[in-house]
Amino acid sequence: ALDNAEFRLVYQPQVDLRRGRIVAAEALIRWQSHQLGELRPDLFIGHAETTGDIVRIGDWVLREACRQVREWQQQGLGIVRVAINVSYRQFVSEDLAAKVRRTLQEHGLPGSALELEFTERVLIEDAPATLRTFADLRQMGVVLTIDDFGEGYSALNYLRRLPIHGLKLSQLFMEGVPDNHSDVAVCEAVCGIARSLGLGLVAEGVESEAQRRFLLELGVPVGQGFLFAPGLPPDEFARRLLAEQAGARG
Ligand code: C2E
Ligand code: MG
Ligand code: MG
Repeated sequence: ALDNAEFRLVYQPQVDLRRGRIVAAEALIRWQSHQLGELRPDLFIGHAETTGDIVRIGDWVLREACRQVREWQQQGLGIVRVAINVSYRQFVSEDLAAKVRRTLQEHGLPGSALELEFTERVLIEDAPATLRTFADLRQMGVVLTIDDFGEGYSALNYLRRLPIHGLKLSQLFMEGVPDNHSDVAVCEAVCGIARSLGLGLVAEGVESEAQRRFLLELGVPVGQGFLFAPGLPPDEFARRLLAEQAGARG
């Protein structure tokens, strides 16, 4: 698929929940297979992790996201921070920090243009170099977040050790908000953990106005979900951002 250029990235807005304005984007991979049509990442990322192909795919995602940020910047959109999803395999099999540094440099971007999302699996694998890698990335200004927080091991011991910036509240718990008591309780608990550790929090899978209001009352400032937009092709994302920027000026 890489050799045939069958991958592309779509960009889902992360929005300020109060006013609905775009504050960043998450890059999500799509595989446009000549044989099978469009395949969602859930169908192939796990397999690519098993075979190790995820490392090459991840390299492409990093380069493509940086290229896109640069292109938007050159179109006058300013620097849009893009979050990319990084597999645990990319931590254990290479010098991720050096690769990120090189790629940012090649595209003339500051570290703050990039956010890396990784799952709790990275924490559990506990490769010896993980702490060092995190520290190096943070030093560059790259934003570090734990994706799908609460779904996996939620190893609190690692949370206080790692130099990360924030958590993403898994959409698994958003589904039952605001009616299901245990989902609400988990959201409140994760929010409490983030607050006491001084971490940022982004809510995923925001689909309804009731969920948006619930999150605001909880003090969660940023969210993403179908209520605002799904993953968008780059030109569509740029159109929305430009329209917002024009609105803010006029
Ligand atoms: P994720 O990083 O947690 O991404 C969020 C997923 O939720 C995306 O699915 C997104 O389209 C979907 N989503 C967004 N808003 C809503 C909503 O309001 N409701 C619902 N029901 N779903 C929503 P997608 O694009 O299929 O990605 C699935 C997973 O695949 C991602 O979960 C991420 O773990 C992985 N993935 C995606 N792109 C990459 C990549 O470039 N590299 C790696 N390693 N993994 C990736
Ligand atoms: Mg993600
Ligand atoms: Mg997620």
